Amino acid sequence: MVELRFDGRVAVVTGAGGGLGKAYALLLASRGAKVVVNDLGGARDGVGKSNFADDVVKEIRDKGGVAVADYNSVVEGEKIIKTAIDNFGRIDILINNAGILRDKSFLKLSEQDWDLVHTVHLKGAYKTTHAAWDYFRKQKFGRIIMTASNSGIFGNFGQSNYSAAKLGLVGFTYALALEGAKYNIKVNTIVPTAASRLTEDILPPDMFQAMKPELIAPVVAYMVHDSFEDTAQVIDSTLGYATKTYFVRGVGSPLKKKPSDPVTIESVQQQWSKVVDMKDAKHLDKMAEVTFDLVERLQEFEDRA
Ligand code: NAD
Repeated sequence: MVELRFDGRVAVVTGAGGGLGKAYALLLASRGAKVVVNDLGGARDGVGKSNFADDVVKEIRDKGGVAVADYNSVVEGEKIIKTAIDNFGRIDILINNAGILRDKSFLKLSEQDWDLVHTVHLKGAYKTTHAAWDYFRKQKFGRIIMTASNSGIFGNFGQSNYSAAKLGLVGFTYALALEGAKYNIKVNTIVPTAASRLTEDILPPDMFQAMKPELIAPVVAYMVHDSFEDTAQVIDSTLGYATKTYFVRGVGSPLKKKPSDPVTIESVQQQWSKVVDMKDAKHLDKMAEVTFDLVERLQEFEDRA
């Protein structure tokens, strides 16, 4: 098997001072990438700052790799990309990984808890990506990873702020993948489950031991490699396993019995079991396909009448 390497490539990994980001940074550097190890170094709830990215940089350099530390918040994403340009002259790979938690049941959730979680996850990813985008376009190469969560895809009690922000990153991925297509910019999302300070009080101890971030890092590294051609993929990974996740759409139903009937609240009630029936559901890849699919079904309905 040919070793997949990243020589000549420059990667920015946000939130790489620990957890998953550290595993990504170490793996990419071990395969020849020059890495910007970004981390604000705050607590799990986003409070405070420190230079713990330094330890990861030291570990990379001790192993013969090339890395620099960056302590900016992703909220100032343009400064992080500037660190890559100033030190290495380019940016090829951006892994948006930084994250915080402010878990509370919705009633107790303050506006600040909502805003800060959105700011770090969603706006942070916007800021770094926006700053890198023009470099990617001009060089006709870019690999971007967003980090979502099953909490966003399925919802999770006590994480309304986090769930909303994380699913936002999936929509962001789908839209950017379309805009990046003709510039060889691939935009994909990882949905990880791993042992880190974010999950130490959530996962049972034996699972915590087993769910090593190092088992997810190869999946992310593959998705940012030159050879990776897919885009708009949402990949769930844990414990050395990975699978694609996507939305499906049911067959649905016209909201009336005959084309000439009016749509009323009662006709909606009558058709509801068909509206939510997911038998024969399918995945549609593009907005245009969604519209086409709908027009086709309405046409069938008219023709049957
Ligand atoms: P972690 O706390 O070890 O890593 C997150 C890192 O982001 C921390 O080092 C933190 O200092 C840094 N960070 C926080 N705010 C920042 C900011 N404003 N600017 C720069 N850096 C900042 O936790 P982790 O589990 O490794 O999380 C990594 C990512 O994976 C997060 O986006 C998280 O939401 C996501 N995620 C993790 C899991 C899991 O099971 N661990 C599950 C789903 C999603």
